[in-house]
Amino acid sequence: MASETIPRPEQVRAARSLLGWSQQDLAAKAGVAISTIADFERGQRSPIPNNALAIRQALEAAGVLFTETGVSHGFHWTFMTERGTSGLIVTFTPEAAGPVIDFASIFGKVEPPKVSIDTIQCATPELRNKVHDYVDRHAAKTPHLFRLRKMLDDMPDGEFFLLLPTPPSSTAEQFRYEQVLHQLNHPQEQPLDEHLQVFGRLLEKYDLCMPRTDKHFNIGNAKKADRTCRFCGNSRKTGAQFNKEAHAIPAALGNKYLKLADECDDCNQYFGDKIEPTLVELLNIQRVFLGIEARGSLPTVKFPGGRLFRDGNNDKMMVVVSEKISEDASGVLTAQLGTGKPIVPQSFYRALSKIALSVIPEQELPALAKTIRWVRYGESSEAPLPKIAAAVVMLPPDPSAQITLYIRKEPHSKMPHVLCEFRLGCYMYVYALPFSERDDGNLLGFFEEEEFKQTFRHYASVPSWSQQDYSGNQEIQVLQSIRLQPSNAPIDGQPS
Ligand SMILES: [Zn+2]
Repeated sequence: MASETIPRPEQVRAARSLLGWSQQDLAAKAGVAISTIADFERGQRSPIPNNALAIRQALEAAGVLFTETGVSHGFHWTFMTERGTSGLIVTFTPEAAGPVIDFASIFGKVEPPKVSIDTIQCATPELRNKVHDYVDRHAAKTPHLFRLRKMLDDMPDGEFFLLLPTPPSSTAEQFRYEQVLHQLNHPQEQPLDEHLQVFGRLLEKYDLCMPRTDKHFNIGNAKKADRTCRFCGNSRKTGAQFNKEAHAIPAALGNKYLKLADECDDCNQYFGDKIEPTLVELLNIQRVFLGIEARGSLPTVKFPGGRLFRDGNNDKMMVVVSEKISEDASGVLTAQLGTGKPIVPQSFYRALSKIALSVIPEQELPALAKTIRWVRYGESSEAPLPKIAAAVVMLPPDPSAQITLYIRKEPHSKMPHVLCEFRLGCYMYVYALPFSERDDGNLLGFFEEEEFKQTFRHYASVPSWSQQDYSGNQEIQVLQSIRLQPSNAPIDGQPS
């Protein structure tokens, strides 16, 4: 259901009861009169669209999900312990379990309508008892809570763990949380931890920009009359229209909430027609593998020689259908899918850069004028481009792709002005925005520079990077195939 749909009166009532909110609480959160809510819930009067949207957004911001049949409330919490990170998705419906508030109050303070969860938690006998109690009362309807109980039971008394309302969206954030956790559980150790020094150095030189993708967030000017398109520089006065929604990260990559107000309809159309299809095409297999929903449905990807999809009936299993599946002597299966649509490699780089330009703070844009013309009009497409580094990382999965930017503080240096980290599930791409006026050179080979390695030392802990060249600006065909191998089979001739 699109987030712009007007909720039904019974949905609003049910959502309030899940949250334990009074009509007054909701009115305050949504910035509307109490009578608006009361009349609406009684079915007496429909609110004007702006008020209906405000009501819906206030409820969604508190975690309520509107479904076809009613409402539910979910947590997508991440627990970090000394033994690792795991996600816990808990969903409540009004008829299925006690109010969300009861559950939330185990981990924080609840003063309706405000719920504050403490990030730092301690596995005390008291906390364990509360969780046992809750699970006993509600587990029949919410069996996923058994995992939470088991995790707590497995922890030694008094050990600290972290409860994050949203998963870490970058390696940098993950490392920072790990430091905090380590310090809490090992207070006697000097904070000489390698990571601490690493990050100190990075944050001395770079600012971090990590837009959230789990809540409605519009970058730029709320009022259409004040908007200037980031890409073509037009405003309403010069004929630009701002009627379409511009996603900062394409919706096909699971992004529902992060939008750019300052993108005109023409530019939106151009990106959607010309460069984003390449990004989506090259990430198709990953999308199916991760089961990323786009516009409410699981992806199916068709190739001339086969297709990939998620079997929604069978625990969302990934299914590979291919005309050519072969097995070699060591038991490695190869499914050839044929060639996908022809793609222009440089469009992949431009689409990734477009995401960064959509979320970067406005004051950085003047230095990136040439970058913008490259992304929007394909200017400078003959100039050499730095490589893009790709890796598979162990971070908890996210329903949407994530973007993190590192923006250099010093005006000039050999290091990139803007370094971007784009992540789709466990697949991470690290790249620099090319053509910045604040870069001294063309950035070719910057990954190999000693200063870069010393500053972005956390990337050294990622086990295997591959540097890929996306500078080609002619159409090419990519042969897609999937290989399945038993864990004892050699990988590319090397012992595993
Ligand atoms: Zn524009």
